[in-house]
Amino acid sequence: MPLWKRTLLRSYYQATLPWRRHRARQAARQGRTPVVILTYHRVAADRANSWTITPDEFASHLAWLEPRFEFVSLEEAQNRLRGRSNSRPTVSITFDDGYADNCQLALPLLIRRRIPVTYFVCGAAVLKGEMFAHDLAMGNRFRPNTVDELRALAADGISIGCHTRSHADLAAISDPAILHDEVVTVGEELQQAIRTPVRYLAFPYGQHRHLNPRVFHLAYDAGYDGVCSSYGGYNYPGDDAFHLQRVCVDGSLIRLQNWASIDPVRERRIRRFFYGPEIVPRQAPTRGALHA
Ligand SMILES: [Zn+2]
Repeated sequence: MPLWKRTLLRSYYQATLPWRRHRARQAARQGRTPVVILTYHRVAADRANSWTITPDEFASHLAWLEPRFEFVSLEEAQNRLRGRSNSRPTVSITFDDGYADNCQLALPLLIRRRIPVTYFVCGAAVLKGEMFAHDLAMGNRFRPNTVDELRALAADGISIGCHTRSHADLAAISDPAILHDEVVTVGEELQQAIRTPVRYLAFPYGQHRHLNPRVFHLAYDAGYDGVCSSYGGYNYPGDDAFHLQRVCVDGSLIRLQNWASIDPVRERRIRRFFYGPEIVPRQAPTRGALHA
């Protein structure tokens, strides 16, 4: 983020802080404190692209979050939404794509601190060792996580999720057989290979234009417990708990602070994606594994 933008954002954050504190107290009294779900991608010192953050930046995020928020799993986030009441500032941490570099610092740090994580990986990357085309196009040869690494992470309590087979834009797929493979079959394959339940699905890219209403139903029918987008948005108690809205974060601490403490402008502007008219019924927590 350029310096001028960071300075502007910091001024905006400081100026709106009294309002944010007032809103936080009001929301807590009403049991309406939202759950903020963060999406990270890659933590490595090389700053290779805009979705890589350095170990120091990641550590500074945790240092700011830890005293202010309760860290919960996606399952507990869903419990708070279904329970229709939450009075504590709450954050859930997720990672997308499955880069091996995350095993160096970020994931061991989270495991040591017992912070719940849901870690979304792609089938082609994990099962065939394929690097992402968008990374190769930029000259980056980032190694994806292996099955063995993911088994070890699962043994340490990290929840492994599915991020499709090929990191496909699911809104651009109309062939039902391809959609089924990208959403369901690959989830079953990951589950079998890693020997752990794969309970959540995350849309690649995750903006409104990448979301496909059919995928929500397909995922529900297959046995997934929830589906994640990443266009931003806060999750309020009483919201549909099957669709979890996430916020993509980069290395900037002020951007994280602005988001996580409930930005009044974004709270008003970001509209929720509805996959109706046939809304998936709320389900009891923990449906367990996909029907393999
Ligand atoms: Zn992704």
